[in-house]
Amino acid sequence: MFNGIFHIRKPENEPVLAYAPGSSERAELKARLKEMLANPVEVPCMIAGREVTTGDLVEMKAPHNHRQILGRYHRAGVGEAEMAIDAANEAKVAWSEMQWSSRATVLLKAAELLSGKYRQTLNAATMLCMSKTCYQAEIDSACELIDFWRFNPYFMTELYDDQPISTGSFLNYMEHRPLEGFVLAISPFNFTSIAGNLPTAPALMGNAVVWKPSSTAVLPAYYIMKILREAGMPDGVLNMLPGPGPVIAPPVLNHLDLGGVHFTGSTYVFSTIWLAIGSDIRKYYSYPRIVGETGGKDFIFAHTSTDPDILVAAIARGAFEYQGQKCSAPSRAYIPDSIWPRIKEQLLDEISTMKVGDVCDFGNFINAVIDRKAFDKIVGYIEFAREDPDMEIVCGGTYDDSEGYFIQPTVVLSRDPRSKLMSEEIFGPVITVHVYPEKRYEEMLGICNTTSPYALTGAIFAQDRFAIVQASKALRGAAGNFYINDKPTGAVVGQQPFGGSRASGTNDKAGSRLNLERWNSPRAIKETFLPPTDYRYPFLEDE
Ligand code: NAD
Repeated sequence: MFNGIFHIRKPENEPVLAYAPGSSERAELKARLKEMLANPVEVPCMIAGREVTTGDLVEMKAPHNHRQILGRYHRAGVGEAEMAIDAANEAKVAWSEMQWSSRATVLLKAAELLSGKYRQTLNAATMLCMSKTCYQAEIDSACELIDFWRFNPYFMTELYDDQPISTGSFLNYMEHRPLEGFVLAISPFNFTSIAGNLPTAPALMGNAVVWKPSSTAVLPAYYIMKILREAGMPDGVLNMLPGPGPVIAPPVLNHLDLGGVHFTGSTYVFSTIWLAIGSDIRKYYSYPRIVGETGGKDFIFAHTSTDPDILVAAIARGAFEYQGQKCSAPSRAYIPDSIWPRIKEQLLDEISTMKVGDVCDFGNFINAVIDRKAFDKIVGYIEFAREDPDMEIVCGGTYDDSEGYFIQPTVVLSRDPRSKLMSEEIFGPVITVHVYPEKRYEEMLGICNTTSPYALTGAIFAQDRFAIVQASKALRGAAGNFYINDKPTGAVVGQQPFGGSRASGTNDKAGSRLNLERWNSPRAIKETFLPPTDYRYPFLEDE
């Protein structure tokens, strides 16, 4: 037994590498991309530390090039889901009894491995599989995931350190236990860091996990499992099942030992999961904790006092980086008529310089959208705008799926501030602008607050402090992450804990102590040194 009280130092965020021409990181990444393209891999299910093959193989293709086969994965089914639950339940016993510091060191070691020898492997897998530029991969699969793995152990110690007061001749203390049963983690396609965080945050707190990655992001998930294994994650603590959610999730959600769900993805799928649990809540041993970060209709709101250069750069980066497929990407903008002509001219100039294409050409700012389903959905919105007399496509609006799923960066003007494109999540490189009369600033803030069911991210751009205060107040409930004079994307672990409310999720703030609390079931203990020996109180005595 280890005796000693030690502290995990507060981490600093992982520095972002620049990938400028001539840099060593650029050369290393290019070599890794080449290697990965030349060597397709076969990805098994990973259950109880074993590689489980099903023979039901699915091709993994690069979204920007239909001919590039990155490998194949073994699709999991109900049988594998049941094996994974058993493995998690078995592994949980020893894992949850292990000293907290041993669990923490697994993630701290994983962070070091990812910061070093695995950095370009995970970046290359993210670029090829999810169609990200080198920079978008670097801030996601390298920096953000490293930050999750370094900051969460630190936040765990803060949480464990939080102990009740003791007065008199007794001692109060809090034991932080994991949840009863196992946790189901279901991750989305768009962030490798989220894929790595969803299973490991509950695991850090002593839980064992069944993890279903997105079917369009299996390659990075495979490398995440490899890194964690090398970092010492014991067999069965994390079990990875690549495959369709509607097949894998039901038996897991139906299991009496389900202790919690850690989900990120669309609002619709999350509500399906919640309904499945809620429809027969009495069957579980405990109330499953349900944590979900879901969709958004993120906004940029400009006041007439804004600096046009700042606003244009924020729209260009926010709306179009990673093809608008960040849950935080602004997808509607409110711009006063007094500045719109200048903003429009500058924005269209900037967009005309954006190159669209393959991730291996580092000159491309925009790559492909994730798959056929996403492509068709986004194209549907563009065509809807083209047909609607109240909308105008002011740039972009074209697309081509012959080589890959490419959609040109698109700006739509909507005369109606509550139109379909101003209120629904599109999740593609499309931003819809409503130009409002400058004098109706306050009224328009109210419309922004009530137009969409979501409340994930949003930004106000203004120099006038009164306008900033007014917007912060009027939009208080409209975003879980609110930005002043900055684009609403790019939250950093430890700096801007991330999550939204309303239809955007349970707002449990990934990358913060608040999230870890959800995977914790505290036991309050009172130990009395000199317990009473007589039931009678003084007030009962005779006068
Ligand atoms: P999605 O909902 O289609 O899929 C998410 C995950 O759920 C995938 O692993 C998928 O296979 C699985 N799934 C699908 N159907 C299921 C079912 N019936 N039962 C159980 N699991 C099922 O989302 P996506 O397309 O991968 O990601 C995009 C969405 O995620 C957008 O709506 C975006 O806003 C949201 N998102 C939100 C955040 C956030 O922090 N709020 C972050 C990233 C993405």
